[in-house]
Amino acid sequence: MSGSLFDRWRAAPDEPQAPPAVGLQLWLDDQARVQRLAGPLRTLLALPTQAAARVQDYLEPHSLLVLEGEPGDWQGQPLDLAFRTVVGHALQTRGWLQRHGQGWVLQLFDIGDLLREQRWDRQRPLFGEIGHALRECGAERLAQTTGEQLQVLAGHWQASALCLMLRAADGWRRYASSDPLWPWPDDARLQGWLAHRPAATPVQIHNEPELLALCGCASLLLVPYRQGQDAEAWLLGADVLQPPPDDMALALARTLAEPLLARLRHQQLQQQSRQLDHLQQQLGAGGWEWPLDGNLQLDPVVAGSFGLPRQMNLAQWLAQLHPADREPAQLALAQAREGHALGLGVRLAEGGQRWLHWAGQRQGNCLRGFVLDISALKQQQQQADAAQARLENLIASSPAVIYVQRYVDGALHSDFYSASLGPLLGWGADSEQARQPALAVHPDDRPLWLERTRALLRDGQVRCRYRLRDARGGYHWMLDEARLLRDDLGQPREVVGLWLDVSEATDAAERVRQSEERYRVLVEDSPAMICRYRPDLTLQYANRPLADYLQRTPEQLQGENLGQWLSDSQRQAFEQRLAALTPEQPVSSAEICLQLPGRENAWWVWADRGVFDGDGQLLEVQAVGRDNTEVRRSQQQLLQGAKMATLGELATGLVHEINQPLNVMRMAVANALTRLEQGTAEPEWLEAKLRRIEAQVARAERLVQHMRVYGRRSLVETQSFAAWGAVEGARALLEEGLRGKGVSLCLEPPGEHSQVLGHQDQLEQVLINLLVNARDALLEQGRAQPWIRVRQELDGGRLSLLVEDNGGGIAEGLHERIFEPFFTTKPAGVGTGLGLSVSHGIVSHMGGRLTVANGEEGACFRVELPLHSTS
Ligand code: ADP
Repeated sequence: MSGSLFDRWRAAPDEPQAPPAVGLQLWLDDQARVQRLAGPLRTLLALPTQAAARVQDYLEPHSLLVLEGEPGDWQGQPLDLAFRTVVGHALQTRGWLQRHGQGWVLQLFDIGDLLREQRWDRQRPLFGEIGHALRECGAERLAQTTGEQLQVLAGHWQASALCLMLRAADGWRRYASSDPLWPWPDDARLQGWLAHRPAATPVQIHNEPELLALCGCASLLLVPYRQGQDAEAWLLGADVLQPPPDDMALALARTLAEPLLARLRHQQLQQQSRQLDHLQQQLGAGGWEWPLDGNLQLDPVVAGSFGLPRQMNLAQWLAQLHPADREPAQLALAQAREGHALGLGVRLAEGGQRWLHWAGQRQGNCLRGFVLDISALKQQQQQADAAQARLENLIASSPAVIYVQRYVDGALHSDFYSASLGPLLGWGADSEQARQPALAVHPDDRPLWLERTRALLRDGQVRCRYRLRDARGGYHWMLDEARLLRDDLGQPREVVGLWLDVSEATDAAERVRQSEERYRVLVEDSPAMICRYRPDLTLQYANRPLADYLQRTPEQLQGENLGQWLSDSQRQAFEQRLAALTPEQPVSSAEICLQLPGRENAWWVWADRGVFDGDGQLLEVQAVGRDNTEVRRSQQQLLQGAKMATLGELATGLVHEINQPLNVMRMAVANALTRLEQGTAEPEWLEAKLRRIEAQVARAERLVQHMRVYGRRSLVETQSFAAWGAVEGARALLEEGLRGKGVSLCLEPPGEHSQVLGHQDQLEQVLINLLVNARDALLEQGRAQPWIRVRQELDGGRLSLLVEDNGGGIAEGLHERIFEPFFTTKPAGVGTGLGLSVSHGIVSHMGGRLTVANGEEGACFRVELPLHSTS
């Protein structure tokens, strides 16, 4: 503005002269109606539309000065008027009114700059205060201080409320406001709105009813603060009565936002750096720098965590390292200086337990990089290495080879073998066999090998056995377990497998198989009858001879019960015998008698062996049997023969025995006849005679009957009988004959007649033999009063019949021999030497013993038998 003109014009207010054509002139009539406009500023004015508009109609609604009354009243004082313009902002003027002819002329000058300067001058302390407050307050009071400054500003601007919005990661955030209770719209709605606002100049909003309603105000002032193109902050003012000019508004927004954002950014950086420090501490990582002509400088965090100085020269740095790592570190550093990347693991000298990864690169005249604590990693690696070494060692010393075969175009190529290949097969890792194991496969097993590969590719895994030739030409049975690995697309990639040397196991299995086969053949072809049966006598297996004997096939016999061929008593005895088997005494043998339908009874010599479980429970019985029927039959014949011999022996006695009743009868008959002839035969006398004859007939009949019974063959089944009965039987046959020879037979009958099990006729035969032998000894000795005594003794569960004579006894050396078959001391044709031998057999068969000892005057034979309780 031109000051001199303004002054000049003002200096002579009363002179009616034409005003200079500067600024703005308005000619007015007495009602202040504008007649004419002049001056260069007139082009800026926004002209009112009505005709004969008054000067007030040209002014801003909020003009500082309100013109009231008529022009005559406005004289002699400076008039500060704000005109509406076509450029947006008001034209601030100052002027004076002067009479000009009939009307008035209002001379005005542009004082916008002046006002602005004045305003700036007024506001300047405010800028200073705001900036100072925001820069100096404590970090924690930053938001509060901002709010306080907004309050101050709101006072200056006469605004209802001010609010500062800052850009955040997720949009606009309200950072502070002058009035915490003011209803600023929530961020989401304001955000959309602010996003489309150009951030160039402040904006006054009067015509967005929705937004204004949200903000609870009639007008809204938006002042941006921007850096570059984009707004970083918005200052929002509600109902601002004294809005600052745009440039001041922008400047104030900047005064607020700039230090605030700087501090916030600083805070953010500080926090990030704290986090980074924390992270570095946790990781044990940190940076380092090494100017080519200076010292190594370590990040304080990493220096602290490793206990290293923050600055070191080369020698000091190397001294900190483990002696073994110094040379590699020095070489790597030299290379890094030449531009190579640095990256190696080094141990610290102290203890050698802490590992660093030292990495870096040359940048200009400086090496830069970082160090990282990799102790834990190294330890894990060392543990893994140790485990790996152990595993490899284990594999190398085990009879197993691990191999890998690569899959290429449908074929498998050997790729890897574990170190155990050498010890196991003697193959070198790159030998011909290792490359092509197929060549080392036993010719007989080649089909197996080909099938293995096919199965692998088809099924993805295989388990088979074949023989491989070792370096010395010997074959090993190998168990091969392999698996096919596929890539992500399912294409075969490689085979990982394991060879286990199972030669020993295979050979052993083969030996067992062969031996089993031999035994099977032995059992199958054995003439003996062999079977296995359960304790309840169910057959589990029977060989062919046994099956043939029982007229079945071996298969038919399985599951059959052995008891069906035994009589009840035989079965009972059989089961008793099995019950007596124990793990200590698992074997028992006996002669058993089988009843075969439609056939003669069979005698088997039968040996059982019990198989027990861990608890001593009988699981099954293995048995071997031999048919003894023929032997048995010849034994019986022998027995019969011996019996007959005894009978012959007895014949002499018998003649006498039968003669006796005959003599008695003859005499009775002669007497009776004589009496009849004499006519003196009274009926009573005659009856008495006839009774006597009848008694004698009965006696002879008894004798003959006994002879017939004795001469019969023994029954098959044993029976329970009174042992003394056999003594009586023998007496009936022999007593008369003995008496005829002058030998007295003295029986001492027992109180009770105890029972034994067997055949009575056979025991009788034993006693006859003993009595006859005693008689012979007595007669041979020619004793004056020869006697034979028979008595019975009971001792525990056993019964003894004792036959004693006074015939002088048996020479000591002969006690054993007399039981031998055909041993006799009698003259040829007299003795057979069978009597005692057969008797011994009979007694043994009954479960007893026949023994001899010399008594006081002669031999004493003892027949000892088990008692049989019938209960
Ligand atoms: P044998 O009577 O046919 O000779 P044995 O076998 O019955 O055949 O008897 C064998 C032998 O035992 C007799 O020859 C005899 O020497 C002897 N012997 C048997 N019993 C007696 C006895 N009571 N006293 C003496 N010697 C006896």
